[in-house]
Amino acid sequence: RFITFEGGEGAGKSTNIQFCADWLSARGQEVLLTREPGGTPIAELIRSRLLKANHSESMDPLAELLLMFAARAQHVNRVIRPALQSGCWVLCDRFTDSTIAYQGFGRGLDLEQIATLKNMTHGDLAPDRTFLLDTPVEVGMARARGRGAALGEETDRFEREQLAFFERVREGFQALAATNPHFVTIDATQSLDLVQSRLQSELERLLAS
Ligand code: C5P
Repeated sequence: RFITFEGGEGAGKSTNIQFCADWLSARGQEVLLTREPGGTPIAELIRSRLLKANHSESMDPLAELLLMFAARAQHVNRVIRPALQSGCWVLCDRFTDSTIAYQGFGRGLDLEQIATLKNMTHGDLAPDRTFLLDTPVEVGMARARGRGAALGEETDRFEREQLAFFERVREGFQALAATNPHFVTIDATQSLDLVQSRLQSELERLLAS
């Protein structure tokens, strides 16, 4: 099964994806926990270039989009597909829905073109379930700032973005959730206990199906 986790900054994706991985492992399931952009040495190299500020030249949005999909092609073909074929659960921190939300809704790149790249890269592969951890932008940004010192690479480029950008990203995720039945939206301002009991009941259902 292929499960993806989406959401804005500071929504608690890392904590909750680890919770899901541990929960499934404890029930004897083989689990691969991975992330995007990244998840293979080559894709992680692309990630570090994407997230690192370059003070002499800003990243062109189209270049950013193509690098996201370059990293994804490597990750899907070398890691995700083989793992799914071997019967693993693949839990992925972000996937193409992040590209639609950030590069499409956030940066304003053409959604049709993103859909074309998506088809090229993984036309036959879609998540079985996508958990959207939703928080108001200010709440998420305050949380992300709180862990700022520990963030390293990520503090560089993306944390400097404007509030309005993150509002568009959130709207993008919400629009995707409203039109795609494999989305489960979870209010991530709730206590961690509540978020995780919701995740657990969704995992129980997937495990039984
Ligand atoms: O949340 P995560 O650590 O996976 O994301 C790293 C950074 O990359 C975030 O700050 C996010 O804003 C950015 N990102 C992006 N476009 C994507 C995926 C991630 O701008 N498609």
